[in-house]
Amino acid sequence: RLHNMVQELKGNIRVFCRVRPVLPADSDEEADMAFPDKRENKEIVLSSSSESATGQERKEVYNFGFDKVFEPSASQADVFEEISQLAQSCTDGYNVCIFAYGQTGSGKSFTMEGGPTEATAGMIPRAVVQVFRVAEEMKSKGWEYTMEGQFLEIYNETINDLLGAHDFDKKKHEIKHDPKTGATRVTDINVVPLHSASQVRSLLGVAQKRRSVAATMVNERSSRSHSVFTLRIRGVSAAGERCEGSLNLVDLAGSERLNVSFANGAERERVKETQAINKSLSALGDVIAALGEKGAAGPAAEGKHIPYRNSKLTYLLQNSLSGNSKTLMFLNLSPLAAHLNESLTSLRFATKVN
Ligand code: ADP
Repeated sequence: RLHNMVQELKGNIRVFCRVRPVLPADSDEEADMAFPDKRENKEIVLSSSSESATGQERKEVYNFGFDKVFEPSASQADVFEEISQLAQSCTDGYNVCIFAYGQTGSGKSFTMEGGPTEATAGMIPRAVVQVFRVAEEMKSKGWEYTMEGQFLEIYNETINDLLGAHDFDKKKHEIKHDPKTGATRVTDINVVPLHSASQVRSLLGVAQKRRSVAATMVNERSSRSHSVFTLRIRGVSAAGERCEGSLNLVDLAGSERLNVSFANGAERERVKETQAINKSLSALGDVIAALGEKGAAGPAAEGKHIPYRNSKLTYLLQNSLSGNSKTLMFLNLSPLAAHLNESLTSLRFATKVN
């Protein structure tokens, strides 16, 4: 009960931490991570040891609390169980945003898109199945829903349509907000009517292929761009009531910092990418933190400035992050010792927005 009240005060922003398992391909040592809070799973503890200049071993312990922490053994189904209510609330007229944040290789795509089998399917396909199921159930209560979807990526602050025909990188897409209706539109983007969960899965497959084709042209492109899947849902009841919501599922670009002390041609490109990523991730952090503060302050914070315009991503999601919205961020972590510093940076970022 108390926890629920705290949630409300925080203005519907939640942060879940997920640590991926060690994989057969991982050659590095495991980091020292512990999950002491077995009852509620809200805590993660990282330890690092280093040798001081005088040769003494120094151990540092870092403690972080989240709305939920998933250990490496957590299955996709376990994770989805904790977000299914949130995901389906788009059918009640909420704008739902779910982000995956973390360094490349920490499990963001696995969490959001997942693998090809039913057991490994990620949050996007599961959420879509859930939304279609709820829409079907609501039919008996006299509600009819229509849904449409778009899937885009933001790469170097430029929008590409992942469902476009053959124009990858060719058309210039702009974000337009209708101040009257609060609707957001991206110019020249394919908006596809959605009729079934299986149709959405094949669309996602097409988009994924498209991204990996592009990846051979630009280094590991998909880890250097944000992908945003949006499902819009409109419902009308037999009595003529209307309701409109959306579900935005965002696989963010890798949060790792790049060590670039010099830059030749190809690397200069990387530096530019990294600057764009850093800028948009910190803009997202600023927006979520400001929304959290606003939520906590209640009506007193009416009119508080939220810096949506500092990045394409936050500008695109402006209307989905404000007002009738629910936001969840997954903080994905690598279990490896070699990634401890990146993990700590990620954890600190998440603490800021939590
Ligand atoms: P990212 O999107 O953050 O770059 P990925 O999702 O590609 O990371 O994950 C990196 C690797 O780890 C992939 O091979 C992925 O299949 C695997 N992986 C990530 N999370 C899990 C998990 N929970 N269980 C099993 N394998 C995972």
